[in-house]
Amino acid sequence: MKRALLLLLLGWISAQAISQSNIHFTNPVIYNVLKGNYDPQLYAPAFPVDDPYFIAQHLAQNINPDSLKATLIALQAFHNRNTGSDTISETIGIGAARKWVLKQFDRISEQQSFRLVTGYLEFDIPVCGMERHKNVVAVLPGRDTTDPSCIIIEAHLDSRCKGNCDIDCLALGMEDNGSGVALVIELARIMSRFVYDHTIVFMTVTGEEQGLVGSGAFAVYAKNENIPIKLVQNNDIVGGVICGMTSSPPSCPGFNHVDSTQVRLFSFGGFNSPHKQLSRFIKLQYNEMIKPTATVEMKVSIMAPEDRTGRGSDHIPFRENGFTAMRFCSANEHGDGNVTDPDYHDRQHTIDDILGVDTDGDQEIDSFFVDFNYLARNAVINGNAAAMGALGPESPTISFVSQDGDFLYIEITDPHDYNEYAVAMRTYSNDFDTLFYIHGAKTAAIDLANHDLNIFISAASIDSRGIESLFSEEYLVKITGTSEIEPHDVELFQNKPNPVDETTIISFWVKNPSAVHSAKVIITSTEGKAVKEIPVTVHEGMNEVLFDHGYNMTGTFLYSLYINDQLIDTRKMVFAN
Ligand SMILES: [Zn+2]
Repeated sequence: MKRALLLLLLGWISAQAISQSNIHFTNPVIYNVLKGNYDPQLYAPAFPVDDPYFIAQHLAQNINPDSLKATLIALQAFHNRNTGSDTISETIGIGAARKWVLKQFDRISEQQSFRLVTGYLEFDIPVCGMERHKNVVAVLPGRDTTDPSCIIIEAHLDSRCKGNCDIDCLALGMEDNGSGVALVIELARIMSRFVYDHTIVFMTVTGEEQGLVGSGAFAVYAKNENIPIKLVQNNDIVGGVICGMTSSPPSCPGFNHVDSTQVRLFSFGGFNSPHKQLSRFIKLQYNEMIKPTATVEMKVSIMAPEDRTGRGSDHIPFRENGFTAMRFCSANEHGDGNVTDPDYHDRQHTIDDILGVDTDGDQEIDSFFVDFNYLARNAVINGNAAAMGALGPESPTISFVSQDGDFLYIEITDPHDYNEYAVAMRTYSNDFDTLFYIHGAKTAAIDLANHDLNIFISAASIDSRGIESLFSEEYLVKITGTSEIEPHDVELFQNKPNPVDETTIISFWVKNPSAVHSAKVIITSTEGKAVKEIPVTVHEGMNEVLFDHGYNMTGTFLYSLYINDQLIDTRKMVFAN
């Protein structure tokens, strides 16, 4: 297992060492739109609709499982979508597949009075014997060119078998990642019926399986050309509901377990991570706009790590280039992709990643591995969050926090003077646990229920239509019961989440890192048996350690912080699965 992981990482590093060059859009209008250089009137519909509640309900009612299924059936015909596969043929290979995606975007644009600007993002990088590659892009220009920061909804179009460059095998890639492609095309179809302040980019990328090179090309291009990006929603494996024999941790419960009501949001970082704040925003928008009227309720899980252990996807190059990004992923996936293991029998990254099977012998698939209703629910969560992000206000900042006894005083700075704010607190988990609302002011005194906690606090503006902005930077509040809110020189905090859902973030504060020669976190059983020792390179302020305890381990455990080989503090955590 360890060796396979190392090889996987080495492969990723070597692919990253050579970078994309000669990156440009085949349609120069796309560049101008992304820079804000365009007349929004050219892209305004005859009857503009921008009501957020109407849009949310329209998405929930019109995103169509049959339409998603039709995309997957069409994608099957290309036989193999490996990044190095055929680009000449009109019927098979990655070239035919991306032409087909572009045709769908063009057809959708035509239905909406040509409001979408479509084309390829072309770039050069040697992958599987192929030099030139193309992402497919459809851009819906926003009506507010004063803030051209765009919203990206993406999925990778390429597929693979066991051989990473096998261009002849049957690589239908239905779960990975036909599901994500179907979601992106369906959202382009439904979302382009409406008007948004911000530009929305619908994109399928190539080269995910060979080092995230397609998403990397866009991210690098955006950075070099100063193209502002508000947020990125990456969709990779978003339609499968069946757990394989293997799956990368954090993992699913076991072989053939089915989960069609949970989706996982992966994003980088812990305290004060804009990527985690984006994931929380997506969940909050679902809970407020969609869930109350949903026929099937979804559990939206904010995951602690950026991705599954040893795995990665197309949100990562965006985060690495300074943009806010996250990934949607099914709760259950069919395999950990460890195809070098001779005992690997799961579907992911093999010829078995097919749409389904014929169980009654009538030559028609009647048992599907991708659940189209589940995929549709994930598309609604995506589209709703993207729409609210594209319509909503800008974030405020928390400029001052002070504690006095039971009360926490908060001051907000907001150049737009919305004077309506949501204040979110995070105490035990990756997720907000308390929301307070401020009406008609920028200050508030919040009554605290619990004095023995560290709380992460952030705020969102609310506009006149009731739409929240993304949440601000997080502010650490160390509740002591006195007026002191500054952390001590070194302080170990309660892990989040606790109880632990397989992965958790252990954090500690260091005021003066120059005095720290060594630091480590040691995890032990309550009987004192060492479970894991994690060395930490310390920096000033918040330090975080991601701990993955794996499945099927439950009970109470202890974690201790040692600085310069001296015990600083020990706290308890509970493993719940
Ligand atoms: Zn994938």
